Amino acid sequence: MVTVTAPIPEVPDQPSPSGAPYWYWLGGRPALDLVNTRRERWRRDVDCLVTPADVGEWLVRAALLPAPMRVPSAVLAEARELREAIDAGARAAVAGEAADPAAVTLIDDWLVLAGSRPALLPGPGGLPVLGERAAADSPRRALGMVALDAARMLGIPAERERVRICGSETCSARFYDRSPAAVRRWCSMASCGNVAKARRHRARAGAA
Ligand SMILES: [Zn+2]
Repeated sequence: MVTVTAPIPEVPDQPSPSGAPYWYWLGGRPALDLVNTRRERWRRDVDCLVTPADVGEWLVRAALLPAPMRVPSAVLAEARELREAIDAGARAAVAGEAADPAAVTLIDDWLVLAGSRPALLPGPGGLPVLGERAAADSPRRALGMVALDAARMLGIPAERERVRICGSETCSARFYDRSPAAVRRWCSMASCGNVAKARRHRARAGAA
């Protein structure tokens, strides 16, 4: 049986009331999946993180938050800011250039939120239970986990070399190339890869 990735849905100019139907998860890691919530960077540049609730929902779907929770409105701007810093780092990695120091600093600032914050709490029968502080499940901590993923991706040379931008002319998705030989060109073979293959076929047929 062949598994086919669902085609990336067409995104309206202004997703409403939520960008969730247009998120896609082909980035290969949370840092790039977050970058890809801004769609069609090559053309219309549509933001699919529309509301603070979108940020919470995205973090749940990315398995970084256990359940939806109220997200302070300031966190939407913060998430977008982190996203663009990660993208600046990703684009520099693809170009083999130095990263913008401001972007590096911004990602670094998030890392203090990424760590585990253990707690020792009284449990049933008074027995102590090792757990996590409630605040540890905050949206900001979850975004800190995204920043940590970005820091690993950008700060470890062998990982940095695998950051890619989809080779399709009509896609701007960023993805992490896990192929053994590191030669992946498209975010998804099922969508962009097949479109490119069909285009080459038509070009050959036209030339013949
Ligand atoms: Zn693509």
